[in-house]
This record gives sequence, C-alpha cells and structure tokens, in this order.
Amino acid sequence: MKLILLGAPGAGKGTQAEVICEHLNIPAISTGNIIREALKKGTEMGLKAKSYMESGALVPDEVVIGIIKERLAQDDCKNGFILDGFPRTVPQAQALDEMGVVIDKVIDIEVPDEKIEQRLSGRRVCENCGASYHTLYKPSNTEGLCDKCGGRTVIRKDDQPETVRDRLKTYHEQTEPLKEYYAKTGKLVIVEGQEEVAETTKLTLAAVEG
Ligand code: ADP
Ligand code: ZN
Repeated sequence: MKLILLGAPGAGKGTQAEVICEHLNIPAISTGNIIREALKKGTEMGLKAKSYMESGALVPDEVVIGIIKERLAQDDCKNGFILDGFPRTVPQAQALDEMGVVIDKVIDIEVPDEKIEQRLSGRRVCENCGASYHTLYKPSNTEGLCDKCGGRTVIRKDDQPETVRDRLKTYHEQTEPLKEYYAKTGKLVIVEGQEEVAETTKLTLAAVEG
C-alpha cells in the first residue's frame, strides 16, 4: 500500500504514520525527519535547508524531491510506504506522478488552526532519535526523556509560536491546494483529528482499510 498523509503542521501526521507503519509493516517516510537528520549531521543538504526550515518556510522543491527519489529507491519501499510531509506543494505532487508512483490513498487529517497552535506548544521531540511526544496528549514515561532511546526530549526551534503562525500560513497557501489535487483523483479520504490520539488512530485505520 502506498499512502500519503496530508495535514497542517501539528495535525498529528507523524503519530498516525507510526501507527500505520506498525499496522501494515511498511516504512513511514518523513521528509521533515530526513532534513533534521541531515541538519544534525551538517551535510550540504542540511545546511541548505536550515534557514528555510527555521523560519517556517518550505525547503525548495528540488531539494525535497531529490530526497524522496533517493529514499523511495531503497529496498524497504518495495511493498509500499507512508509519506508523512511529502508532497507539500503541487509541483512536488506532480514530481511524484512523474516518477510513476501510483498512490492508493491520501489521508488528510483535519485540525482547526486554533487547535494546532495549542498543540504545537506542547510538542517535544527526542533530539537523538526524532520520536515525537506531547506534554498533554502523549507524554513520555519519564518527563524530558525519550521512551525509545533515553535521549532528551526538546522543543523544536520551529515550534515557537511566531514560527508556527508562519508555518500555518505556508500550509494554507502551498499545501492545502493538494486536497483539491487528490480529490480529483478520488483518492482523498478526510479524517477529523480528535482530542484523543487513540480516537484519531481508529479513524485513520478505518480510512486505510476502507
Ligand atoms: P510539520 O509537519 O510539523 O511541519 P515536518 O517535520 O514535516 O513538520 O517539517 C518541518 C519542516 O521541514 C517544514 O516546515 C519545512 O521547512 C521542511 N519540510 C519538510 N517536508 C518538506 C517538503 N515536502 N517540502 C518542503 N519543505 C519540507
Ligand atoms: Zn529517542
């Protein structure tokens, strides 16, 4: 199964991607995580992406398209994958089509902007493995430490309130048109993000299976 997860930053794409990943045993591919990883390692791509990312803007299409091409060519993607955070612009979606990738479903997780701002303020990520937590909705077992690897959980630079507002603006302008793009293909399924993560998960799995 080849899936795309759409939604505003902080809508919970990453969390749902992990659930589907375990359920279907296919890799979840997050362009955001790949870029943050490159940034941490200080690669050329990471350096190029840094200023865009930190200001809440999108990294240029050709950079992320290159990342995805490389990633999808790897062996573990043979039986399918979940794209979390790609495509984020119409040209990125067109590039995916041009690569000959046939998507089965596009799951759009809808969460109102007010909720997003509130959610992102509680988000914490593991600085070591990238696992994501939330102080209210998905706390780690020990405050400040990652359940998976014991690394420190920290606030992402781009989760500061001013940057969140810019990211939402970017989302509405550049990513939201993808709903229309995929609605036309009949592949779009909308999931209303719930207060409880487990509730959203039920809806997502139903969307995957339905
Ligand atoms: P979120 O969904 O919470 O915004 P991500 O981790 O998916 O977080 O992305 C963080 C940042 O990484 C984005 O704001 C953007 O700068 C960059 N990025 C990730 N994926 C893409 C993409 N497909 N196109 C352009 N930029 C991207
Ligand atoms: Zn970790």
